[in-house]
Amino acid sequence: MRARYLRPINFFVIFRPFKPIIYFMKYFIQTFGCAQNVADSERIAAYYQARNYKLAKDFSDADVGIINTCVVRQQAENRVYGLVKNLHKLKKKKPNFKIVVTGCLVGAAAREPSGRRMYDLHKRLPQVDEFLPIEEVGFEYQAIRNDATHALVPISNGCNNFCTFCIVPFSRGREHSRPFAEIVDEVKHLVKAGFSQITLLGQNVNSYGADLVKDNQSYKLPDKRIVKPVMVKHLGRQRIPTLFPYLLETISQIKGIKKVDFISSNPWDFSDELIEVIAKNKNISRILHLPVQAGDDVILKKMNRWYTQAEYVKLIEKIKKAIPEAKFTTDIIVGFPGETKAAFNQTVKLVKKVKFERAYIACYSPRTGTAAAKVMVDDVPHEEKKRRFHQLDRIINFWLRPDTK
Ligand code: SF4
Repeated sequence: MRARYLRPINFFVIFRPFKPIIYFMKYFIQTFGCAQNVADSERIAAYYQARNYKLAKDFSDADVGIINTCVVRQQAENRVYGLVKNLHKLKKKKPNFKIVVTGCLVGAAAREPSGRRMYDLHKRLPQVDEFLPIEEVGFEYQAIRNDATHALVPISNGCNNFCTFCIVPFSRGREHSRPFAEIVDEVKHLVKAGFSQITLLGQNVNSYGADLVKDNQSYKLPDKRIVKPVMVKHLGRQRIPTLFPYLLETISQIKGIKKVDFISSNPWDFSDELIEVIAKNKNISRILHLPVQAGDDVILKKMNRWYTQAEYVKLIEKIKKAIPEAKFTTDIIVGFPGETKAAFNQTVKLVKKVKFERAYIACYSPRTGTAAAKVMVDDVPHEEKKRRFHQLDRIINFWLRPDTK
């Protein structure tokens, strides 16, 4: 990790007669976005603590303020700009206060080959002392977890799918899997430290390991078993080799693990072998997050999602047959370019059919650099997006609202 003002010793001693006082530098992190960002912040905390920094109560108590950003929606990005502005006021009162910005905003800018986005970012946020690409924070320190029994464990980073609305392949880059043995070792270490619940994290967990196996050759697991990677089949075509079913099973069978779940998985990489592993191992969560994004086949195609509504429903039925107690949560985008009322009604039809436990619904907003932002017109008015959002929210999430409990 490169950091201009981080020094190996980040404390100083104030000598007072007969009573020296040691002052430790303090950091504070604000995290926006998904569980992957939360896990990244836990590693950032470990990095600072390894350099003798202490956790501050809030930004005003800190010497370094770190903002871990999310750019998945415009709203999330705007919140970052607002926060930097507020921290700038703090900087005026505390001139030594440093602002560090990391996460997807920096990732998207750093990966843009012309350097234009990075230049624009520096220009837009001159108050920031450092833009830190998250890859520079490695896995060499044990993350400082926010919970005493439940741990988030990243297994991969980035994505190769390029859904047309999604900034992730640009902000986090291509999919990169952590070594199998390293993940297993981390979980064993967590169990020893008292953790019993694990969430495996990745943008597309069920394609985990595609970059670890060569040409579908055999792979040696840490327990010395030699296995053939699972070839995910989609619409009868072989897609990618993956080790995820093996990884999930290995983690679930570590002594002391009471519950394992995983986010996020893609419908088209949900293999039969994965279903079998979940069915066999009762400590794997029965609540499965399976982002559908839309119910209309034309919109799904425009989104570069590789299934139709009928295929998605077929997958749900297949999982339910093998795991009758399975329940589903999902992600949905409303107001994608070209989503007519009839197309939206297909999403309504789908959610009524599947009866999701919960849905994370978002109004579409174009993200710079994505295919949708480049070639499609954001033609659904904002009011209509909101109406569609509330209609779905009423159907799926009504039981979550306080007045219906
Ligand atoms: S699979 Fe998920 S992370 Fe990857 S591009 Fe699609 S929506 Fe984004």
